[in-house]
Amino acid sequence: MTDADCIFCKITAGEIPSTKVRETKRVLAFRDLHPRASTHVLVIPKDHYANVAELTAADPALAGEVLAVAAEVAAEEGVAESGWRLIANTGPHSGQDVFHVHFHVVGGKPLGPMVA
Ligand code: 5GP
Ligand code: ZN
Repeated sequence: MTDADCIFCKITAGEIPSTKVRETKRVLAFRDLHPRASTHVLVIPKDHYANVAELTAADPALAGEVLAVAAEVAAEEGVAESGWRLIANTGPHSGQDVFHVHFHVVGGKPLGPMVA
């Protein structure tokens, strides 16, 4: 399941380079191109789903696997104890820019209050 125009599908296919930090059969974690913290990793299912709602409706087990990989990445990055944030921008008000569901793993500094 891929979208020909999707930049993250191209990363999954190896058509666009990325700095991978963890990979399973169905999940990929790679560094954000424009990191906003010393740890800023994106975790995605390799299959294309536009957002969290589509992913969880279609394959809740895969959604769980993505979350597990996010926690493993945080541990590997050394931020499990200091703390980290998991962000999934969804839809226009969130500023979602890439419509292949992705979870930002952000940490390595005090992150301040969550903006809502
Ligand atoms: P969103 O705003 O959709 O939640 O976040 C999309 C994220 O993808 C941004 O943080 C942006 O820096 C990152 N990004 C966009 N294009 C690329 C790319 O080609 N490679 C990587 N590694 N990250 C990208
Ligand atoms: Zn995609």
